[in-house]
Amino acid sequence: MRLVIASGNPGKLREIGQMLAPLGIDVLPQGDFGVPECPEPYYTFIENCLAKARHASLHTGLPALADDSGICAQALNGAPGVFSARYAGEPKSDQRNNEKLVTALADQSDRRAHYYCVMVLVRHAEDPEPLIAEGRWHGEIIANPRGAGGFGYDPYFLVPTLGKTGAELSAEEKNSLSHRGQALRELVAKLRAAEPLP
Ligand code: IMP
Repeated sequence: MRLVIASGNPGKLREIGQMLAPLGIDVLPQGDFGVPECPEPYYTFIENCLAKARHASLHTGLPALADDSGICAQALNGAPGVFSARYAGEPKSDQRNNEKLVTALADQSDRRAHYYCVMVLVRHAEDPEPLIAEGRWHGEIIANPRGAGGFGYDPYFLVPTLGKTGAELSAEEKNSLSHRGQALRELVAKLRAAEPLP
């Protein structure tokens, strides 16, 4: 079974490929098929994710999987949300994104934030019943960065139960807890329970 991944990120492709290989699913990057960029005009992760999956399936004629993720701060009504990658504008910069988030929360006593990830698998472009899996990882935004691992907002994302930031965790620890790890495991469970892919 072949599944197109609506992403060009090699780390994601490897991670998803490893999780789906035991199910007999070969994952292929959409770049192999010359799929053009998909617009992501929506305010919700799920809408953008569904658009990307459908777009990849339409252009390849194969089942397709997309993911979308970001960080949502409680005191900011869920911002940066779908704008997480470019919260501080173009060109995208983790450092400026983090500065903007820390500044936006400077006067807030509520420091809670969570990462969110959604994955959508469509069996074909007109699939009325896509598989949907989600994950949430709860933490707090701190004012000063800690740790050298991870990426994006991780150095400012403190997991209170561990007393560590996302950037202070090993890749294995992060996968076992993270929004993306949760979503991927839920997706695998749903795939195991579902009808085989075409
Ligand atoms: P995308 O879903 O790969 O486009 O990620 C959207 C953006 O959300 C990234 O560019 C990061 O800024 C942020 N983000 C998503 N997941 C993580 C994570 O695990 N750690 C840090 N930042 C993340």
